[in-house]
Amino acid sequence: MTAHEAYESLKQHAREVAIIDSCSGLLGWDERTYMPRRGSQFRAEQLGYLAGLRHEKFTSPQFGELLATAESDGFQDQPESVEAVNLREWRREYDLATKLPKSLVEEITRETTIAQGVWVEARKKDDFQSFLPNLETVIGLTKQMADAYGWEGERYNALLDQYEPGAKTEEVAEVFTVLRKELVTLLGKIKDAPRKPNTKIVEQAFDVEKQRVFGEMVCRAIGFDFSAGRLDITTHPFCSGFGIGDTRITTRYNPNRLNDALFGTMHEAGHALYEMGIKKEDHFGTPMGESVSLGIHESQSRMWENQVGRSKEFWTYFFPMAQGIFRDALSDVALDDFYAAINDVRPSYIRVEADEATYNLHILLRFELERAMMRDEIATKDLAGEWRKRFEEYLGIPVDNDRQGVLQDVHWSAGLIGYFPTYSLGNLYAAQFFAKAEADLPNLKAGFAHGNFEHLLTWLRENIHVHGRRYRATELAQRVTGKELSPQPLIDSLNTKFGAIYGF
Ligand code: ZN
Repeated sequence: MTAHEAYESLKQHAREVAIIDSCSGLLGWDERTYMPRRGSQFRAEQLGYLAGLRHEKFTSPQFGELLATAESDGFQDQPESVEAVNLREWRREYDLATKLPKSLVEEITRETTIAQGVWVEARKKDDFQSFLPNLETVIGLTKQMADAYGWEGERYNALLDQYEPGAKTEEVAEVFTVLRKELVTLLGKIKDAPRKPNTKIVEQAFDVEKQRVFGEMVCRAIGFDFSAGRLDITTHPFCSGFGIGDTRITTRYNPNRLNDALFGTMHEAGHALYEMGIKKEDHFGTPMGESVSLGIHESQSRMWENQVGRSKEFWTYFFPMAQGIFRDALSDVALDDFYAAINDVRPSYIRVEADEATYNLHILLRFELERAMMRDEIATKDLAGEWRKRFEEYLGIPVDNDRQGVLQDVHWSAGLIGYFPTYSLGNLYAAQFFAKAEADLPNLKAGFAHGNFEHLLTWLRENIHVHGRRYRATELAQRVTGKELSPQPLIDSLNTKFGAIYGF
């Protein structure tokens, strides 16, 4: 078999794996949206079967042999070619999938399932001690997993690499440290600011059906294609791209607050626009048809949510329409007051409810703690105390229970260590990309005021979406913006925006 034939076989093989994944994805979407409650056990069996099938297919010796044969060709002479990119990424995934001993994979699956159950109870009872033994087990297994993957520098690199390929802990930490100091300063200024938004404006009755109509209108305007997507309701909103012509998002409606569904929907629509923009017709089933990393995915959702959805120009266009739809709530409200209300900044305990400015402090705290655990600098038993200490230092409010502290997120019980930083990387990349888009397209924001979002979407398609997984995140940022990942664009945009709203 020639290298070229092996490559073609790999493509076919990988397409079958991707079809299994898309079926699992669709079953998972259905489980969270429309599946009747009593179907859950059988659904677990369906998903388990597909997961096994996928693993078997992808890690088969045949796949490994095809890969080695294909790699013997000179595809790598042109590292940016479709073939070289696909081979590079298949090699990475194949090595990752075959490096862990089966016994370790099974132990992790078993222990994280148990730990998640214990965590749910511990959170309810606000009892960190009862969760501690399980957490210690999961942390121990995570270290074993990182060591099995192998790492250079520090163990956390192996974990971060699962979600953000190529990212280096030390570099991320450097950027985060600058960001943290700047955000703490910004929060201090906001706290002492002369002006405060009137949040009552967005915290009143908003008819759910009207929220749905308005949300869909916004989705359409920014480019979400309803002939290739859906919007449904779930408790925890998400976006799922199943393949060619089918990308679905979900949201949740709060009848007494406008922000939740509106910005949640824009966030998920941002993820969807990325999925819709990757050339799946040409590349489905190969890495060229996939997103770069969780951080880059999050940069797309955050950009539509924050840089677009929370901008003054966006509301210059949409506010009169919102006033027409939500007549009782908004007809007497001025645009400036509404704009301030949707941008209110307030330290709070729960990450998922945090605003644009404080959100990253929640993430930086988690990143520091999990990194320190992987370096054996913090013992798991001291985690709750460390959390309280740093939380008060960064956000300025004391934590008096662990339910709203160290026990709030599912991630650690599920063994998802190395995942949190991708949220903040998303915010950083979003700001850096948007600053470059503004420099490239001088009338970009002015266009928002006239309902023109196409220029931004086209820019994202051409600069980011079209590349699939051709570049690593850091390399993509360098190529698109001409600069390495930097905290400055985000810091500058937050200071400018909140300075104007709060009057400092
Ligand atoms: Zn997201």
